[in-house]
Amino acid sequence: METIRTVAWMKQVARESGQKDRILGLVPTMGALHEGHLSLIRDAQKQCSPIVVSIFVNPKQFGPSEDFQKYPRTFEADRVALEKLGVDYLFAPSPDEMYPKSFRTAVVVEVLSDRLEGKSRPGHFRGVTTVVLKLFEIVQPRFAFFGRKDAQQVRIIRQMVGDLNLDVEVVACPIIREADGLALSSRNAYLTDHDRQAATALYHSLEAVGNEIRSGERNPVEMLSSLRRVIDAQPGVDLDYAEIVDAESLEPLMTLSRASYVLIAARVGGTRLIDNALIEPNGNAFRVSI
Ligand code: AMP
Repeated sequence: METIRTVAWMKQVARESGQKDRILGLVPTMGALHEGHLSLIRDAQKQCSPIVVSIFVNPKQFGPSEDFQKYPRTFEADRVALEKLGVDYLFAPSPDEMYPKSFRTAVVVEVLSDRLEGKSRPGHFRGVTTVVLKLFEIVQPRFAFFGRKDAQQVRIIRQMVGDLNLDVEVVACPIIREADGLALSSRNAYLTDHDRQAATALYHSLEAVGNEIRSGERNPVEMLSSLRRVIDAQPGVDLDYAEIVDAESLEPLMTLSRASYVLIAARVGGTRLIDNALIEPNGNAFRVSI
């Protein structure tokens, strides 16, 4: 595996791969790699070669009071894990390489970026879409792999790709969870033992919605009160938002009738966690993927 630190060299490698008609797959990450990231890479390897994994803790997607400085950075362990997996290129630019002092541009996907995570974290998606467009331009992937763990992010990136006619296919991969249901996240490293136990309430609250749907409930208000009951029963978990939204518009649903997400964000101790379930029509019923 070759570690690439500069935009110029990454572009050169991407150009050569394009000339050889190879199907380049990109997996963007912020490092502190876990099984969730590795599963994206394995999915990418089924469809693409070469594989580029980027590790870049993107300052522009953190708010002024957020955890940019203390975000976990485990570069050497990440590098070893990627090498072992057979990744071809690790693109790990410095912040100055991505954002020289003269940098002035931002990419904003309107409306979709203002709700849910975007409302709680103003400017977050502006930072995400700006860095992802840069990564797409630098790496020129045919396919880019993202986790459904960040469902709103995937929806926004797909919108950007469509609006800007980008030649990249966005692939959404399933959520990887711990045995007790907690979705893997680099931020789980912040959780104390007590918080780690409490954090499973997010998963259980999504399960409660799944159970409601299976027993015939179609009213999001009822489903969300089941969800809240589970969260409220767990001391130390403070709900930021819980919504059932249309999978395309991300607007709240009045009744369950089409593909939608249950999206949830909560603070556990000092750590903000997000999770979701995907609801899809399946004949006369609905399939719930958590
Ligand atoms: P991050 O390093 O947090 O920016 O995540 C990089 C990519 O990994 C994003 O596309 C995430 O959605 C994805 N990801 C993070 N956690 C998980 C998980 N538990 N399961 C699947 N994908 C994940």
